[in-house]
Amino acid sequence: YLIIGQGLAGSLLAWRLINEGKSVCVLDDGHASSSSMVAAGVINPLAGKRFNHSPHIHVWLEAVGATYTQLSRLAKQPFLQWVDMLRLFREKDQHRYYERLSGQENIQLLISGTFTPDHPPQPVAAPLGGFIQKHTGYVRIPSLLAFLADWLKARQALEIASVSSEDISVDDHGVRYGRLRAGDIIFCDGYRSMKNPWFGYLPFAPDKGEILTLQARPGTGSAQLPDMIINAATWLLPVDNGAFRLGSTHNHRIQDNQPAAEGIQALLEGMSRLLDHPELLMLEKSEAGVLPATSDRQPFLGTHPVHPQLHIFNGFGAHGSLTIPWYSQQMTAFLLEGKTLPENADIKRFARR
Ligand SMILES: Cc1cc2nc3c(=O)[nH]c(=O)nc-3n(C[C@H](O)[C@H](O)[C@H](O)COP(=O)(O)OP(=O)(O)OC[C@H]3O[C@@H](n4cnc5c(N)ncnc54)[C@H](O)[C@@H]3O)c2cc1C
Repeated sequence: YLIIGQGLAGSLLAWRLINEGKSVCVLDDGHASSSSMVAAGVINPLAGKRFNHSPHIHVWLEAVGATYTQLSRLAKQPFLQWVDMLRLFREKDQHRYYERLSGQENIQLLISGTFTPDHPPQPVAAPLGGFIQKHTGYVRIPSLLAFLADWLKARQALEIASVSSEDISVDDHGVRYGRLRAGDIIFCDGYRSMKNPWFGYLPFAPDKGEILTLQARPGTGSAQLPDMIINAATWLLPVDNGAFRLGSTHNHRIQDNQPAAEGIQALLEGMSRLLDHPELLMLEKSEAGVLPATSDRQPFLGTHPVHPQLHIFNGFGAHGSLTIPWYSQQMTAFLLEGKTLPENADIKRFARR
């Protein structure tokens, strides 16, 4: 297998295929357009202001626990951190969405009660109250990708190259790229797949996101700042060494990885509505990336309708850390055992295009 892209998608898929005894070579251009390397890696199964959730959330969470724990043991470093999330209501309607949610039996494991504006369990501004979410946290994606890059290199399974589709030839026996020959190629190249001559027909909806890293001002006591993830559209995540990540903006019109002044300002304004004392945090770094989002918000998995040697594993949008562990299991079973892909993710849904 040739895999284009060593983001979270290409890395986990390559790791699984190699563990199944397959010969793999991953080609990556040094993360030039990586979404994974800037992502905060937040795991949140209840997305958006209506707390929408997929019927797959429980299998996703199971795969999250199993996959990152297995990798952490292998690397002897923790990639996954569970941290509860304080969900702040920002519209009155959200009380209703919460009531509907909390009545569902399969969701009760994920939530643990509401709080009122006068008693938030953290130093936050919560004028409409909120609730606490369980089974949330974050993945240290850059450390995981660095570990998997070394793991792949040790198996001669990673090369640094910027791949142009014109240099890929496809014939009845498989695919060729320079001196590399393989039976199959899998595109895990993030939003750049939209320019791909074989998979560009899929409805990508790339989304530029900006994210900030902040540090507490010297002398700030730990009780003055939250130690849970705070989420009210803008979210604040406490990470290692007293730092915080603040994210993220959305822009479907621009596709570059340059942080812009407007994005930084929008995030800082968002933070000022989250905290009682936002002045306790100082801006350290701003970053941006393009999320491989899709028009129906479902990933793109499967085989090209005409060329059986071309595959795609992509389109994980804003939820890659939560969903890629499970979808990479499904993709591996599809490639190696011919198992059917989950219908929501199978690119067969766009066959008419
Ligand atoms: C600001 C921001 C915040 C985010 N926060 C979160 C979050 O909190 N939680 C979460 O789950 N997700 C988050 N995401 C989304 C997350 O990054 C994605 O879901 C996931 O990481 C996508 O991984 P990927 O491997 O599909 O794509 P990518 O990470 O983009 O990987 C693609 C790789 O392929 C390489 N590549 C592309 N084309 C070529 C080529 N022609 N030749 C060689 N190499 C190539 C790229 O350089 C890159 O290294 C965030 C994204 C952004 C931008």
